[in-house]
Amino acid sequence: MELQRRIKEATDTPRENQKDFRLEHLKQLPWPDAAYIREARRRVLDKEGFIIDMDGVIYRGDHLLPGVNEFVAWLTDHGKRFVFLTNSSDKTPDELHRKLSRLGVVSHGSNFYTSAMATAAFLTSQKPQGSAYVIGDPGLHQALYACGYVMNDVNPDYVVVGETRNYSYEKIEHAVHLVLNGAKLIGTNCDKTDPSPAYPGEVIPAAGSLITPIEKASGVNAYFVGKPNPLMMRSALSVLGTKRVETVIIGDRMDTDILGGLEAGIDSVLVLSGVTSLQDTRQWSFLPRFVLRGIFDLVDSSGS
Ligand SMILES: [Mg+2]
Repeated sequence: MELQRRIKEATDTPRENQKDFRLEHLKQLPWPDAAYIREARRRVLDKEGFIIDMDGVIYRGDHLLPGVNEFVAWLTDHGKRFVFLTNSSDKTPDELHRKLSRLGVVSHGSNFYTSAMATAAFLTSQKPQGSAYVIGDPGLHQALYACGYVMNDVNPDYVVVGETRNYSYEKIEHAVHLVLNGAKLIGTNCDKTDPSPAYPGEVIPAAGSLITPIEKASGVNAYFVGKPNPLMMRSALSVLGTKRVETVIIGDRMDTDILGGLEAGIDSVLVLSGVTSLQDTRQWSFLPRFVLRGIFDLVDSSGS
């Protein structure tokens, strides 16, 4: 395949540091070249719906990545539909909106779609107006309330676990008791870690890690709704109101964004501004539809 061959050629040439994500370094990569970037940009911008991952795509930590403001302005000016998609379930859309505002990005609360919202939509499709025991933060509670769910710590339909700092032995113990008595176990996402906000380069436990003790003790495997489950991508599609062929997902992770897009039948763009280098893509048995250096490639008309 053409993309596979081009990645191989580019990465067969040893480079000093293939995992260097600095902009100057990305701009010096031997590939993607200017002609490829122009063609990929044309095809991507032709889409009607955009599902955009956040960390590693629009920001890294507290730093906005280049080209993001211009790209969001272009989407708005051209009447495109877009959502910022995140596997984190702790923050509400309003909190995410405020974070982007602080970074200088003009967005709207309705532009955000979280794994908490996807989980609430999934639970509603399984059991409308059900009940849940939740180990999670406001983003998860709010999403479930918005779908007509009630909180119940006696005999809930579901035990739902998301990212949270309010985590204790008592809550794990109680969750195990409820699961052993028939509550179904749901994780908002299976990510084991998230980037640490306090210690650059380090990680903090995410929902996939927090739910593990409950799985181990109860002997029940959880069902995870977030990326790479194509359910979340399809759920985001229905929010956008676009068809699969008209939509593209832009992300920085092969194991969530690109795999999720592939399995949902949505074209994907891997950007190299996050956790995946061009070299890393060779260890995977599938490819993204397009590879770009960062969001800036979608707005930089020089193609350099
Ligand atoms: Mg990411």
